[in-house]
Amino acid sequence: MDVTELARRLIAFDTINPEGHEAEAMVFCEDILRAAGFDCQIIPQGPGRSNLIAMKGNRSGRALGFTGHLDTVPLGGTAWHYPPHEGVIADGKLYGRGSTDMKGGVAAFLCAVLNAPVPPGGVSILLTAGEETGSDGARTIVKSGPLPPIGALIVAEPTANRAVPGHKGALWLRLVFHGVTAHGSAPTMGVNAIGLAMKALDRVTQSDLGAVHPVMGGPSLNIGTISGGLNTNSVPDRCEVTLDLRSVPGIAHDTLVTKIEACLPKGTEIARIIDLPAVWTDPADPWLAKMTRLSAIHASQPGDPMAMSYFSDASIFTPALGGVPTVILGPGEPGLAHKTDEYVELSRLNEAVEIYRAALGQWEG
Ligand SMILES: [Zn+2]
Repeated sequence: MDVTELARRLIAFDTINPEGHEAEAMVFCEDILRAAGFDCQIIPQGPGRSNLIAMKGNRSGRALGFTGHLDTVPLGGTAWHYPPHEGVIADGKLYGRGSTDMKGGVAAFLCAVLNAPVPPGGVSILLTAGEETGSDGARTIVKSGPLPPIGALIVAEPTANRAVPGHKGALWLRLVFHGVTAHGSAPTMGVNAIGLAMKALDRVTQSDLGAVHPVMGGPSLNIGTISGGLNTNSVPDRCEVTLDLRSVPGIAHDTLVTKIEACLPKGTEIARIIDLPAVWTDPADPWLAKMTRLSAIHASQPGDPMAMSYFSDASIFTPALGGVPTVILGPGEPGLAHKTDEYVELSRLNEAVEIYRAALGQWEG
């Protein structure tokens, strides 16, 4: 099966998350890989949902790993010009939900591993469900048992085939401030939870989150939502706030939580909604440098290091694999992810297969 046809077949599965329903697409990939001699293990992820680990070659060595997710985001409110699950090809582009993010990438590495000799050390594939809602599938895989012995990881998220050494981390927090209610005409009789939140958020936004990264820049903090109070003439006893922190390598999320906690009045609840650390491989790492060269040769992409703005399953897999060199490199167009009439360039799909095959050819385990 060629890469375009494989991508079309994957796009035909409606894996919009929520609900996901990735299991059928996962079994489709499992069947292809099994037929090619891979050992496959399905890891359940609730009703109609699953993840897949597939391995081929020397298990005691260090395999070259590929990872991708099979869920997609919803279609959005705008009508699509091309039906989102039919994989229409027009003007050298393959249209459909998930074409860029990231069924095109998955199709490309499946094609590469099916058609290339198994490298010393072997090859491993991690296919996930539930990435778009915070890497739920990757977490399930990691909890299910030891990962295959992977020596370097390729994440086929959309980069237009540029070799990208990492992305920021995401730490989303929910804060609940507690006050004491009273009549609105006698505010001194109560403790205003919104007032507590305002003062604390002032301290939060002024706190030093950590050092600037040479490529990614500094960490950031956004107050995303705030809600409190039931009626105008009562002192609110509850105020809920959510924060979106983006971290850079070298900043532990535990440290960030401690810094935020130090700004909060006693009794404030703090909970993590999403907790995905930053991913970064030194661009001078010999394997990453090889991947950067392959990207330049096959996709004419520049070699200077950059970081993606999105996060990926690498936040879960790379630390679980002991911090192995990781590259984000996939055929999708990063600017089109999650958009109406998302597409992947057919030329990028073919370039990605070439890059992955070359990576397999150069992998020594
Ligand atoms: Zn993605």
